[in-house]
Amino acid sequence: NVLLAPSPRKPAPDFNMEIISDIKVMQNRCLSVRAAGQTISFVPTMGFLHEGHLSLLREGRKRGDLLVLSIFVNPTQFGQGEDLDRYPRDFDRDEAMARECGVDLLFYPDAEAIYPPGYAAYVTVEGPLTTTLEGACRPTHFRGVTTVVTKLFAIVLPHVALFGRKDFQQLAVITRMTADLNLPVEVVGMPIIREGDGLAMSSRNVYLSKDERQQALVLNGTLRHAAEMAQNGESDAEKILTMAESCLDKEADLKIDYVKICNAQSLEEVDTIDHDSVMLLAVSVGKTRLIDNGNLIS
Ligand code: AMP
Repeated sequence: NVLLAPSPRKPAPDFNMEIISDIKVMQNRCLSVRAAGQTISFVPTMGFLHEGHLSLLREGRKRGDLLVLSIFVNPTQFGQGEDLDRYPRDFDRDEAMARECGVDLLFYPDAEAIYPPGYAAYVTVEGPLTTTLEGACRPTHFRGVTTVVTKLFAIVLPHVALFGRKDFQQLAVITRMTADLNLPVEVVGMPIIREGDGLAMSSRNVYLSKDERQQALVLNGTLRHAAEMAQNGESDAEKILTMAESCLDKEADLKIDYVKICNAQSLEEVDTIDHDSVMLLAVSVGKTRLIDNGNLIS
């Protein structure tokens, strides 16, 4: 009886993702992959994956033989009173999404393994790259980022590492650090992935209430308006910033941390817009801090 025949089993996936928490096991796995002549691409994240993360994984899949994803909510990049304890986590969902994307190794260490008792080594990038913008608002943030990324590079030994331009300054800092320390890793920057209505995807978007989510659309709206002004010939940064501040100020629950127009390489503020100018903004919507950025002349 055809109707009673057992349904055919789903074909097994053609790859088997391994989940590794132990640092030494991970490093040895990566060392043997390299010894076999294979290349490693690496996407470091704090988990609670979304399409932004997946876009990095898909590109990573193309660029290396072995695709490694790390999920680690790095305590040293959070300041006092920030959202470390309530940062959203859902490992089971992340695991399923990682498998779907063809991740080979998922590195999932705990904080005690990365920072054991007596831990004392930190990596810093000095100067304006880490003291302006996010660095001014979150003075210990980049020290945590550069330290953990250096450690992850030393464990995963990647040929290529992919980062999103959503965190524009982070990408600039990591690019600088990798070059200055002669780390043998190609750092690749990837475009910002947005929701259909323009909100830049972020794990922190789940914090937003319905009303805050609506107000948050002003970030991308402001960036688009600024780009429009620049495209139409306005080259005075001050005039564009005045427009941007008044746009952002219209939202009741929004507090501006900064809105600046900077040179994309040095991150120094500019007076006159050119092809290398980028607008960067950070705001709090209610209790949620959001960042976004965009080029002014494409
Ligand atoms: P996170 O888990 O927030 O630390 O982010 C991990 C990586 O994903 C970083 O390189 C981020 O820049 C990148 N990323 C986060 N959100 C986006 C996005 N909306 N578009 C592209 N990349 C993103």
